[in-house]
Amino acid sequence: MKEPALCLLCGTYVCFASPCCTRQQRFLNRTMNHGGCTLHANECTAGSGVFLLIKHGYVLVLSRGRGILLPSPYVDEHGEPDPGLRRSCRLFLNHGKYERLQQQYREHTTNPAFDPLRELPGRWIAM
Ligand SMILES: [Zn+2]
Ligand SMILES: [Zn+2]
Repeated sequence: MKEPALCLLCGTYVCFASPCCTRQQRFLNRTMNHGGCTLHANECTAGSGVFLLIKHGYVLVLSRGRGILLPSPYVDEHGEPDPGLRRSCRLFLNHGKYERLQQQYREHTTNPAFDPLRELPGRWIAM
């Protein structure tokens, strides 16, 4: 797997943005190319997924066919994330960051008025 992504809800590994797992699928009356994360999220959680992008040091949150990248809750002993795992130091799960992530995710899946585009910091990417 070139770009492994770990589903934080069920623990399944899928490919992120890799042609091998991209399939055409009808979703919301549109036929689109979906990557491994989107396809898995559609099955796992009706489209709202949360994945750890192992190599990039980001958490990908999917919502309504779009994705947002949030900082990974895994940090080194100084509290710094290691995007791309370039420093290849030991990383620890920061429970505060992890809980904040879970809370953001719950809000975005349970509160219909919650607009992740506005509420979540980070960079939105088209999926
Ligand atoms: Zn899953
Ligand atoms: Zn694949």
